[in-house]
Amino acid sequence: MAELREDPTTELRVRLLQETLRQAVEHSPFYRNLYRGLSTTVEDLEGLAALPTIDKRMLAASGRDVQTDSSFPRRIGFTSGTDYDASRGGEQLLLRTFQSDEELVQFEALQQFFHDRRPERPGLVLVLISSFHGLPFTRPAPGVFSLPLGLPFHYAHARQLLLERHAFDGFGPRIEAMLGSVVQIKLLTTLLLREPESVLADLAIGSIYTRSWYLPRRWRKLLVETFGARVTSVYGLSEVAGSTMSECLSCGDFHPAPELVSEVLALDSDAPAPPGTVGELTLTSLVPFCSLQPKIRYRTGDLVQTMPRCDLVADARFRLLGRKRRGLYEAGTRRLLLDSHSVYDAIESLPDVALTPFPELEPFDVGRSFGRPRYRATTEEVGGRTAVVLDVETTYHPRFFPDRSRSVGDLLHERLQTAHARLPGNTSPLDDIRVNLHPAGALPKEVAELL
Ligand SMILES: [Zn+2]
Repeated sequence: MAELREDPTTELRVRLLQETLRQAVEHSPFYRNLYRGLSTTVEDLEGLAALPTIDKRMLAASGRDVQTDSSFPRRIGFTSGTDYDASRGGEQLLLRTFQSDEELVQFEALQQFFHDRRPERPGLVLVLISSFHGLPFTRPAPGVFSLPLGLPFHYAHARQLLLERHAFDGFGPRIEAMLGSVVQIKLLTTLLLREPESVLADLAIGSIYTRSWYLPRRWRKLLVETFGARVTSVYGLSEVAGSTMSECLSCGDFHPAPELVSEVLALDSDAPAPPGTVGELTLTSLVPFCSLQPKIRYRTGDLVQTMPRCDLVADARFRLLGRKRRGLYEAGTRRLLLDSHSVYDAIESLPDVALTPFPELEPFDVGRSFGRPRYRATTEEVGGRTAVVLDVETTYHPRFFPDRSRSVGDLLHERLQTAHARLPGNTSPLDDIRVNLHPAGALPKEVAELL
């Protein structure tokens, strides 16, 4: 098994893994059944490889059987977002997650560690919370303001806190960091950009952390330019507590979190993906995380590419490439032709692309500033070869502006070729890319990419 992390905590992690497996087999009917006839005694982290992998569908189908305990949990959450795709006839796959007191205490300690940057007088932090994945559950750590951003008066609160000079013992006077989902950070930025320039100039934000979705390159640049801040993406799955990993300051990729055992597995088997190739991130949560609902060799559905070690961190390194389901593959093989992040980046930066506004942001009237770009990326098999088909809705009827449409089509073509060439194993250009531009409303209503 290709366990990604090598560090001095390995011994402790092996003990936690043994305890995780013991609890799962003893108390969870799902795991007892899954591991029937198999040995669950592991001497090292590699021992995990002898056990089968699981996925979200299996957990959702097994319901209560997965749980180790039927006591009332301290928190019930839901995972939903990125797997929901009504346009493909899919039903929303909701997985309920249950968390115990002990798990949440540990989770909060982790969060505190995350926010504690240990300077003399640390700056204050603004954390934008949402109820998207169930009720928010974190108690704010000292120095952290937790706010929702669902209504205009929430924005008024955030604005005031951001502009105010505070006077709390042990903390600097200003909010210097903020953390929120990609949509929340986009919203807050859009609203601040409407303010007089003096407001933006008066902010003291030095770091921005985004989570929940992919932060497209254009937005990253916009955030850096607007706030003069360092921008860091945070990866984490709501169903795997403790899976929080933030982008490395040195290499810009991710290194595995110590609270987990992370593996990268081949796309069509449980074998490890060879170094430098694309595989599926597979996580095992160690106790006390997920102790009510163990996640052991959980296939995340996220594509990653294993990368050479970086200069700063000795641990293994991987690059996120979006959802496995949304990747485009060569017919008959599992070679990744295009990853969903690259396709999204290619499209999202074009002002010609039609957007579906986020309905939940209606009270803010942000209009066309951002939304879900309306496109569909698929493959078609033609004479044994795979064609990439990109259907995109434009804000105008393509026939009204033929020259402009042609240049948008050419640009997308070029960007997809570049993205294709960046992926491992793609030695020749894509020979068949079809970019079709459509007037607004031509694609199914539910075409909406959440990454
Ligand atoms: Zn790094």
